[in-house]
Amino acid sequence: RVIDWPAFRAEIEGIRVYDDPKQVELRSRDYFWYSPILNEQLDGVTGDLVVLPQDQDEVKRVAAAVARHRIPLTIRGGGTGNYGQCVPLEGGVILDLTRLDKIVEIGEGRVRCEAGIRISRLDDAARETGQELLMYPSTRQMATIGGFLAGGSGGIGSLRHGMLRDPGNVTYAKVVTVEREPQVIELHGDEIQKVQHAYGTNGIVTELELALTQATDWLHCAALFDGYDTALRFAQGAQEEGFDCYLLTTVERRFAPYYRKFGDLFPEDRDAVFAMVAPDEMDRFREKAERMGGRISFAMTKPEIREAGLQPAYECGWNHTTLQALKADKGWTYLQVAYPQPFDPDLVMRQMARYGDEIYWHHEMARMGGHIQIFALPLVRWRGRQAMYDLIAELEEKDGCTIFDPHAVTIEDGGMKEIDTAQIEFKKRADPYGLMNPGKTRGWTAEMARQD
Ligand code: FAD
Repeated sequence: RVIDWPAFRAEIEGIRVYDDPKQVELRSRDYFWYSPILNEQLDGVTGDLVVLPQDQDEVKRVAAAVARHRIPLTIRGGGTGNYGQCVPLEGGVILDLTRLDKIVEIGEGRVRCEAGIRISRLDDAARETGQELLMYPSTRQMATIGGFLAGGSGGIGSLRHGMLRDPGNVTYAKVVTVEREPQVIELHGDEIQKVQHAYGTNGIVTELELALTQATDWLHCAALFDGYDTALRFAQGAQEEGFDCYLLTTVERRFAPYYRKFGDLFPEDRDAVFAMVAPDEMDRFREKAERMGGRISFAMTKPEIREAGLQPAYECGWNHTTLQALKADKGWTYLQVAYPQPFDPDLVMRQMARYGDEIYWHHEMARMGGHIQIFALPLVRWRGRQAMYDLIAELEEKDGCTIFDPHAVTIEDGGMKEIDTAQIEFKKRADPYGLMNPGKTRGWTAEMARQD
């Protein structure tokens, strides 16, 4: 079907667009370059036009126009996703939602905001009321809250509050449908799952309500140990004993060269636990580290960290650890691993011995569905596709780990493993013509599209 672009543009007259090929290309990419497989697959894939609505009424006008002209529509927040989530496989319109950035209301224990707001701005605004977000990705600075809901899973704070999808964390979503006459659907409570981690395939989320908690002036710190197993046992113990932390991430010593700025604060002969610790918990944290033969190399407030020219602890964990290494050495790629419960540090030590220099390890302490859940985002030497899938099979079959494959573009081949039929049913309502982020869900087939 040939798209009548002049007619489409006339219908969205007055709404900001970018059609400069360089701008369009830039906004057709995300952080898929972590994966050599996706790099090859998505090379040169771009949209046709970027549209930047300023408010929710403009979003509806764009939704109506793409539905009338049957134009593929890919939503973009901060563009920090790792799996080509924002890459428009079939071209079309890229809907950049970063202008939808208003805070509607901050109340006791909750915030209502537009979906395109950057997470850092949202969290900072909550802090002005003595509250903070329950969690954010390590891309806090660039990512939007709508992108986190639709593309993320959890991160800094998940140690305390679980994953994004756990009950009570996100309480409301307003969704605009992609139809000739777009509707607004309001989702409450558990209904949010219909759009959570759906990669923007089933409706445009324009507004969200999230839970807040009382703010803490977290101390960003590192505890150093002689032995990765001790670092792991320390972090595991701190979590099990309920230490008041917002982040506990273990990073083995071979990463130290990628953390040059830290110098002696993370030397090459020690394994680190980067943490965000409540100030009144710091003494207990230090004593526990020392009892286990470790030491605290620094403990600073966020302004102190910035003043020292270092990055905050939340940029030392999750996929930021991977990023530090990838920036320095393009021979690495990575995996996402969930460990069987209960977590056994000896399994990690066996894996370290088995893979040697082929894999460098870092682990994240989190909580999922009320239980402690440990993840790893190991660096893996790129030895080709077959070697990668042999490794995935080995980690799953031999070690009982679950791999969320970051080398795949569909929701199902990545983290979710199976088709979420509730999300597909919702797509029939919210995106009846199947225009949204085509190719990203295996659950949708052309026959499902409304024919009118
Ligand atoms: P985008 O990349 O812009 O979009 C992500 C997906 O959501 C796309 O499919 C898009 O179409 C869809 N989408 C965006 N906005 C909307 C909307 N309003 N309505 C419907 N669909 C929408 N993720 C984590 O979960 N935890 C982490 O700790 C973490 N750390 C990271 C570290 C690094 C260095 C990098 C590169 C990535 C990391 N990520 C992490 C992945 C990513 O940064 C987060 O998931 C982030 O929240 C995505 O937000 P975004 O605004 O950049 O989304």
